[in-house]
Amino acid sequence: MGDGYNFAQLKKAILAMSRATDWEVAKKEWKLVGISEASEPETCLCGHFPIVELCTISNNTTERTVDVGNVCVKRFLGFRSDLIFASLKRIRKDITKSVGSDATAFFYQSGIINDWEYGFQQNTMRKRNLSPAQLATRRKINEKIIASIGRRGIS
Ligand SMILES: [Zn+2]
Repeated sequence: MGDGYNFAQLKKAILAMSRATDWEVAKKEWKLVGISEASEPETCLCGHFPIVELCTISNNTTERTVDVGNVCVKRFLGFRSDLIFASLKRIRKDITKSVGSDATAFFYQSGIINDWEYGFQQNTMRKRNLSPAQLATRRKINEKIIASIGRRGIS
């Protein structure tokens, strides 16, 4: 504690939007459905400020959707959104790099990359020496991923 991430407060807020009343069960009702970046820092459900890397989580049972900071999503809900954001940073810095396995699965599930690209990612993710055609495909996939990240607060 003492770093601004108030677990009790987050838990209470999440439980209020869940069907289950037991925390361990309630957690399982939630899924990571999106990531975005705030242009103006926001406050997490836990009270932590500022948060910029936002994770949208959704509860299939109650149909509630809420944004939580990257740290809370990882620490308390167990989603490795931090790895997705790390992948994003990597390809923004160098478009010829590949996103990792967590990001690949996430962007596939979100419908950003298609079936073929999902297969391509798995075959080439760990390869450093790609053919020019493969490199062009990797770039295209990376550009699609970068373009899909929503920016909040710009209207
Ligand atoms: Zn938080």
